[in-house]
Amino acid sequence: MAKSNYNLIMAYPAIEEFALSSLGYMWLCKIASELINTERISTDSAYFNIKTTGAIAFSLSFDFDFLGVFEILEKNNIPFLANERGEDYPLIFAGGPVITTNPEPLKQIFDFMMIGDGEENFKSVVKILAKGMNKAETLRELSGLEGIYVPSITTKVKKVTETLNNVIYTPIVSDKSYFKDTFIIEVARGCMNRCAFCTASYLNLPFRHYDYEKIIDAIELGLKQTNKIALLGAQISAHPEFNNIMKYLRDKMDSGVNIELGISSLRTDSVTPELVQTLVKGEQRTSTIAIEAASERLRRFINKNLKEEQILNAVRIARENGLRGLKIYSMLGIPTETQEDIDEFLRLAKLIKSERKRET
Ligand code: SF4
Repeated sequence: MAKSNYNLIMAYPAIEEFALSSLGYMWLCKIASELINTERISTDSAYFNIKTTGAIAFSLSFDFDFLGVFEILEKNNIPFLANERGEDYPLIFAGGPVITTNPEPLKQIFDFMMIGDGEENFKSVVKILAKGMNKAETLRELSGLEGIYVPSITTKVKKVTETLNNVIYTPIVSDKSYFKDTFIIEVARGCMNRCAFCTASYLNLPFRHYDYEKIIDAIELGLKQTNKIALLGAQISAHPEFNNIMKYLRDKMDSGVNIELGISSLRTDSVTPELVQTLVKGEQRTSTIAIEAASERLRRFINKNLKEEQILNAVRIARENGLRGLKIYSMLGIPTETQEDIDEFLRLAKLIKSERKRET
């Protein structure tokens, strides 16, 4: 499709620093800008020309992002409710994890919503928008796409689950991003562990990953722009070639390439000496242990089957291999929690502290 003159506003419902760090949002901006005129806005640069705008797309990553949606609409004098916006106003739609989790609370606000993965489906949406039809015709055609929920038309919608082909990476490396000058590469999507509280797992089932060669190509592309490389995924250590990816990075560092490496999250039971050594070489100084619940009983209850020995083993490996700082993530207030669970948490925290301080 030749590039059309249709004008799309890609709106991020928070400040630009966060917009630039949102891989999904920035990738969709890249896709849209190849097909139509695209302008990025955020809450700190929210004004645009409504008269020349065909549609506004919002990406919602966090629950409270809806406040940013209202802020941007208000700043531009756009009615919040879809049924109060006639043909004089742009179509307004949204996607992202919050929308996929539950679109219903916002169904009076958005003309349509994207449920599930965005990258390929977004191209289909943009192509329909670019036809420049009136709102009713556009929404009718959009409602025929899988994963598109048009509250005024749709009665049933199926989440889109895409096959991961071309690796998604940071299209604009910026010092204004929350992850300053960092080239983020998506390695895998979803997580097989299905901890009961975790939308990152359930929203993105089944677990999928990119080919090793494509990830390596993306790393090389990133290193042409910056030395800060971050690998992203809810369960990247489940990538079948994870150790080889880490070895590739370690070999590069050993050959003198300066790489600051960031890893989004690692399961405690996947921490190995080689992995920690690579992270330390890549200037990562702290690790996070997500124990998630106060006691082993509660961890079993939320399907986070992590035993105390595994936690202490990960702490020992981190200490022996040079990771200095340590954070613990745990939720308090999980249903059925008792004082005994809290006491067990305090005991475990003390054990972790003494394991950290032990001489290597
Ligand atoms: S291991 Fe982490 S990413 Fe996977 S389901 Fe559990 S909390 Fe979610």
